[in-house]
Amino acid sequence: MAGLLVATLAFFVVAVLWAAHSADKEAAVIARQQLQTSIEQRLDSMTQTLSDIAAGTNNFARPEPETDAARFADRTQGLFEALYVTTAAPGAALIRASENIDTAAFEPERLGVEQIARAAAGRIPGPPAKLVHLDDVTVAVVAALIPGRRDDPLIVIGAKRLDAAALVRFAKAPRLDGLRLETSAPADMDTAYPLTDATGAPKAWLVWDGDRPGEAMIRRFLPFSVVGAFLMFGLFVLIVHHVRRITIELSSTQERAQRMIGRDPLSGLPNRFLFGERLDQELSRIQRTGEGLAVLFLDLDRFKEVNDTYGHQAGDALIVAVAERLGELLRTPDTLARFGGDEFAIIQTQVGNMADAETLARRILDTVTRPFEIAGTSVSVGISIGVAMGPENGRDRDTLMRLADTALYQAKSEGRNRYSFFASQMDETIRLRKVVEDDLRDAILSDRLTLHYQPIYSADGESIVGAEALVRWNHPKQGMIPPSRFVALAEERGLIIPLGEWVLRRACEDGKRWPGLRIAVNVSAIQFRHRDFVTSVMRAVARTGFEPSRLELELTEGVVVEDADAAEAAMMELRALGVHLALDDFGTGYSSLIYLRRFAFDKIKIDRSFLESMEATGESAILVHSIVHLGRALGLTVTAEGVETREQHRFLQALGCHQLQGYLFSKPIPADEMDRLVGVMPASSAA
Ligand code: C2E
Ligand code: CA
Ligand code: CA
Repeated sequence: MAGLLVATLAFFVVAVLWAAHSADKEAAVIARQQLQTSIEQRLDSMTQTLSDIAAGTNNFARPEPETDAARFADRTQGLFEALYVTTAAPGAALIRASENIDTAAFEPERLGVEQIARAAAGRIPGPPAKLVHLDDVTVAVVAALIPGRRDDPLIVIGAKRLDAAALVRFAKAPRLDGLRLETSAPADMDTAYPLTDATGAPKAWLVWDGDRPGEAMIRRFLPFSVVGAFLMFGLFVLIVHHVRRITIELSSTQERAQRMIGRDPLSGLPNRFLFGERLDQELSRIQRTGEGLAVLFLDLDRFKEVNDTYGHQAGDALIVAVAERLGELLRTPDTLARFGGDEFAIIQTQVGNMADAETLARRILDTVTRPFEIAGTSVSVGISIGVAMGPENGRDRDTLMRLADTALYQAKSEGRNRYSFFASQMDETIRLRKVVEDDLRDAILSDRLTLHYQPIYSADGESIVGAEALVRWNHPKQGMIPPSRFVALAEERGLIIPLGEWVLRRACEDGKRWPGLRIAVNVSAIQFRHRDFVTSVMRAVARTGFEPSRLELELTEGVVVEDADAAEAAMMELRALGVHLALDDFGTGYSSLIYLRRFAFDKIKIDRSFLESMEATGESAILVHSIVHLGRALGLTVTAEGVETREQHRFLQALGCHQLQGYLFSKPIPADEMDRLVGVMPASSAA
């Protein structure tokens, strides 16, 4: 490319120089021609003059050399300095016509007079006139025919000396500036006209200042051509630069496109696919080096809220900001990826042990929980992190990613904004939890839940006074799932309201078959706090036609701790309906006395953990003792749960417990078994 430019420039320069040179040559040729023409014209007019004079003298029948020469002398009147008359015959005598000729200056031999005479007579070709340069003077020599002698014509020859100034005047032609005579050979023959002696040898030169249009052109053109060359060069550089940039851009676009294949367009981070590839690479690398790595799965808490509150653009901005902060925490060989939504993942490399991963997880928590400035407001989010260690937890990509996901799930269900390391027992529980979570809504809506009833006995253990409804989930694949595995989840996922309503209605329906029994239904705190709770109870009772006075709601202390006023109001309404209220799991929570005094409970249920540890430590027995006495003192019914042994039964009975519930009497049983159990009961003993 550059070579081409240089060649082009060189060609351009050569062409210009050549054009200038030939223009100069041409100009010189023209000038010389003008000079020649000018000289010839002068000589011609001298010849003409001489010829006129010669014709004017022709009054004789036959002119003779001697007489004519004499006649000429006075007629030329100084036009010629020397005049000769001769014939054209070779070796003819030369008769001097003028009187006082400076013979030294006009030596006929040196002037080549004979040749001119013969040319005038037409004996030899060539003009009858010439300039002959002698030692330091130029002589114009012309010849003319004297008419009258046909056979041997007479010729008159005139000569005139021209000094340098006269010669210049003589030869002067337009455009021949600085015309001058030089006797030494000039350097530039183009602007010189040679003056020869009679033999034709150059003896002096008429020299002029050549008109050099080419040179002038170059002189004038040079600045332009320099500028032009620069411009051309600039243009060339520009073009080259442009082409280069386009090439680079093209390749970088390609590169970017290629990179983007594996990238999340919003954050520019690797996507799940590329993350997997990198993880594969890292895993095969650590197999050789023996290093460790950690796979961290990250999930923003409350991201949906940000999206809903501030709009998707703010959500996007938050994702980018989070990506940025996360990126700052990592080292070069680490990989940060976005899996979409608010999910990120990290491959932490060069991990020595769990502490290294823990440090990173802590720093992530610290960094991400700092507020973000999004759309002019300060936005706070949390982040949950699940960590799996390679190669400890797994040696392949799929395992590690699955376990990190499990750990993340664990972190989220433990309350979010925390990190959790994968632990081997986690896998199965979490897997189950996920299944549960996925299917629960469906199960509630399609009636796949069921209620078991655990009978509640009188203190003597002889008669059934009621039954507690306990929800079960008959999962098509998992079998019967206990409430401990899905009730909390239902609360978390906002499913507890439909679940609670379903339980309430079903319990009322079933309970109608067992007249005289009080049916206890567990109510979750979230469910109770819902503003429509009382209405939903009323609705369930109304729809089923169940007597409200046979309904007992089991509440936990959590219900009354938060927003006690609202709880109290709801409880008053329920009591007004005739519904009974029991304080479940008594003794496990807060300083229950205050609540017992303030709220309108009918019953306390002593938590089964007291009975479990009663035999082991004496303390629990004392506690149970005081609880029973306290309840009785406050006028409440006291029920003991989890009675498994006769000893416990006897102890509780002796304490004055009103009601007993536990495996000793009956496990929770399906409704149809309840039917049988109640059916054998004499109607009178049901109180
Ligand atoms: P809870 O209200 O304390 O219910 C008593 C739990 O103790 C039941 O477990 C019952 O099967 C168990 N149990 C009864 N007697 C014995 C015994 O002698 N020994 C032992 N070891 N356990 C005994 P379940 O059915 O698994 O229910 C667990 C918890 O789930 C319940 O504790 C209750 O808090 C909750 N729950 C059950 N059904 C519902 C419901 O419909 N709604 C709500 N909100 N919670 C429910
Ligand atoms: Ca209960
Ligand atoms: Ca309980």
